[in-house]
Amino acid sequence: MKNIYSIFFSITVLATLGLGYIWWNDYSFKNNPLDDELQNRINKKIKELQIKSYQRFGIKRTFPIIISDDMSSNHYGMAVYTKNQEIKIYLNKNRFKENANYMIEDVIPHEYAHAITFAIGHFSTKEKGHDKVWQDICKKLDGKRCERFVNHDDILIEKTNLF
Ligand SMILES: [Zn+2]
Repeated sequence: MKNIYSIFFSITVLATLGLGYIWWNDYSFKNNPLDDELQNRINKKIKELQIKSYQRFGIKRTFPIIISDDMSSNHYGMAVYTKNQEIKIYLNKNRFKENANYMIEDVIPHEYAHAITFAIGHFSTKEKGHDKVWQDICKKLDGKRCERFVNHDDILIEKTNLF
């Protein structure tokens, strides 16, 4: 009997510790910046894209990258052209937790290509911003899956008198 109790006791303790760890992990992920290794990989990818956009399009402009906690879960990233003509790239922080590689190799070049379409003054909303111009830029940035039609809304053009 004593053994069974100690087995149950051990299981309860372990389960509690496990839950505590999961909770702590979620909490610390939500309330802290991404870890250094991940942040370095993101920075490296962005640097690479800056070099490519200069070499292939002559664009020296850099775009602020905002890693956000507040994006809806169906958004991986978003490119925004603001009323003040700023171009910003938002990345959904929570998506880095599930699939950092996808975020870095697919989503960052994808959104960067949107940012470049804005930088060259191309504001077409055809195919929700994934038209031929965007596709070509995406390919030249060595993005992945630039041909596939993407039906999510991941561009926001705040300037109202464009069309
Ligand atoms: Zn897109």
